[in-house]
Amino acid sequence: MTQPDCLVPGCSVRGQHLTESRAHADGCRGCVPREAADGLAICWWHRNRTLDAVAALPGLVAHLREIGKPYAQARPASDTLSPGDPAERDAMPGAWLAADSLENSLVGWVRATIEESPTRLSWPDRRPWRGDVPGWMLDHLDTACALPFAGVMAVELVTEVVAARHRWPTAEDAEPVERLSLPCPRCGLAGLVRRAPRWVAEPRRVECTDPDCARVYTEDEYDALVAIALREGRAGRWRTA
Ligand SMILES: [Zn+2]
Ligand SMILES: [Zn+2]
Ligand SMILES: [Zn+2]
Repeated sequence: MTQPDCLVPGCSVRGQHLTESRAHADGCRGCVPREAADGLAICWWHRNRTLDAVAALPGLVAHLREIGKPYAQARPASDTLSPGDPAERDAMPGAWLAADSLENSLVGWVRATIEESPTRLSWPDRRPWRGDVPGWMLDHLDTACALPFAGVMAVELVTEVVAARHRWPTAEDAEPVERLSLPCPRCGLAGLVRRAPRWVAEPRRVECTDPDCARVYTEDEYDALVAIALREGRAGRWRTA
């Protein structure tokens, strides 16, 4: 049985072409669809980007609320506008609206996962978002990524998080990853990064940033690779950046 394609629209393998494809044209960077990961409806690359987006949400939302606060407080006290009034919403700073939108998106995908999963899943908490919604999604990410909406979910969550971080960067966004000079042992390309843990108890991980590889190494695996490199006398080339 051949593996299904990644459901993210346009997800393709760089440099590989279907000559008969209508998508293939001058300047095409690759038009062979990338395979979905084992048991998932999207590829590892998109699954990992979705994981990053969900993991970044609690910190990002707190940051957006924080920077929106002075504007919200400086807003003239109004007895004519009530929360939920469209004029009131217009007066709210963009950062607060973005935080609302991020929370609503994730709650929506949690709900969709619960509704569409063949397994019985329980809601994180009766009150949306008060419960640990991001934590729930991290625990059930591969269930969600196996469902037919996974491609749309990945695009939506990743796009929203990237857009919000780009517009309202946090201090950590300036230095989100540590780039490593050790080439990825799987694909041989120099694109390994070490990502800081984004939630309590998350193990640190080293990840290949080449979308066609997207291999994730644990810190232990990475340390073992470095030890091998040192033993083989390639320390100069493989020393971490
Ligand atoms: Zn092509
Ligand atoms: Zn993909
Ligand atoms: Zn790689």
